[in-house]
Amino acid sequence: MEQNKKEPVKGIRIRTINLLMILLSCILYVLLITVTIRISKEYEGVHDSMDDYIACEASGDLLTEGSAYLTEQVRLYVITAERRYMDNYFTEVHVTRRRETALDQMREYYGEKEYQYLAGALKNSNDLMEREIYAMRLVAEAGGEAAEDLPSEVREVRLTEEDLALLPEEMVKKAQSLVFGDSYQEAKDQIAGDVEESLSGVHEATHERMLSSAGELKSTMARQGGLISVLFVENIIIFILILLLIIRPLQIYIRCIREDRMMEITGSYEFKYLALTYNDIYEVNTANEAMLRYQAEHDPLTGIINRGAFEQLKELLRIRPIPLALLIVDVDKFKQVNDGYGHETGDKVLKKVAELLQEGFRATDYPARIGGDEFAVILTNMTEKQSQVIERKIGEMNDALTHPQDGLPVVSLSVGAAFSEQGFTDDLYRRADLALYEVKEHGRCGCRFYREKEE
Ligand code: GH3
Ligand code: MG
Repeated sequence: MEQNKKEPVKGIRIRTINLLMILLSCILYVLLITVTIRISKEYEGVHDSMDDYIACEASGDLLTEGSAYLTEQVRLYVITAERRYMDNYFTEVHVTRRRETALDQMREYYGEKEYQYLAGALKNSNDLMEREIYAMRLVAEAGGEAAEDLPSEVREVRLTEEDLALLPEEMVKKAQSLVFGDSYQEAKDQIAGDVEESLSGVHEATHERMLSSAGELKSTMARQGGLISVLFVENIIIFILILLLIIRPLQIYIRCIREDRMMEITGSYEFKYLALTYNDIYEVNTANEAMLRYQAEHDPLTGIINRGAFEQLKELLRIRPIPLALLIVDVDKFKQVNDGYGHETGDKVLKKVAELLQEGFRATDYPARIGGDEFAVILTNMTEKQSQVIERKIGEMNDALTHPQDGLPVVSLSVGAAFSEQGFTDDLYRRADLALYEVKEHGRCGCRFYREKEE
């Protein structure tokens, strides 16, 4: 548009803002997703270290249980000499193997230090086994059990000369002292101590692992919180920009359209461009409308209002009960002007008459061209009392027309007038026309007012 060439549009482009916001959102969301994945991994780390701790505690319990079970079975055997307790003992040693299982688990989950403590406990437990098997051999010997019926570990035990010399009751007594005595209890306490040490090592290691995982988790969560805050601020900025660059200008533009006026130049580049374009079209349309309205209401030759506009004015004045006068003005023997001087000169005369009518009356009076050489003038707020003023003015116009200074031919006007106290009445025109007829009948060039007797 022409206006745009004159005044280049400046402003923030919605497209640019949109692209920037999409880019920023993408970056922020990718970072947020990355941080969230990291948080879930770090949480798993904390969880895993807790699981490991529980598993190691279970391993310690398993080793203690296995060791206690062996003690229980050997003690029951040396007291009752019932074979099933010996069998239970060796089933634990060869089949159930709780202590070995515990050690394997510990090796899987924890460091060398913790493993070493548990391995020490197992070694002590195994050392204790020698004493236990010896005690069982003593009881079996005292019970006179056949060597070939005994488990190989027991069978292979060689009793000392001293012990072989003992009576069966003494052998049982010795066996009982071996597995119930203080030194046996001390060895058991040593095993429990090792398990305890191992578990406290595990506890420390787990605590450290959990502390470092929790520390990392905390800092990653703080980063996540920061990213969420930035996203929140970005959203607020987007809302404010939408409000300022789109919603507010749209509201203003709608108001301008409703009020039928030019648009205010506001908002983003795109809206400003639209408003400038709209304003250009608006200006052209307004000018065209005014021109069309003027053409529709005015006579192209004389420039005063035409018959159509005169009819509209009549209708308006019908509903306004003001006193007024209607003059019907006809150029005398105008045909002769046309015939004698040509149509063009005739036109000039008509223009001159229109000018005289417009200049001769007030701004509140309305001269109109209602036919070829016929004019009408509506004089508002005019009563019969002022008829002399009208007469005088017509006289002056006829003077001017009959003594032309402009080289145009001599012409004169015949004017018929009628008054109304109550706006434009139905027969006002007819009465003015009758008065005009009277003037034409009585020698033309003059003005007459309609009187009741004329009908
Ligand atoms: P009268 O005194 O009885 O009015 O005689 P007149 O010759 O004026 O008769 P009338 O009013 O009937 O004639 C009007 C003439 O005006 C007829 C027509 O040729 C002429 N006329 C109508 N319109 C125009 C116009 O636009 N320009 C010109 N030059 N002449 C026009
Ligand atoms: Mg005429």
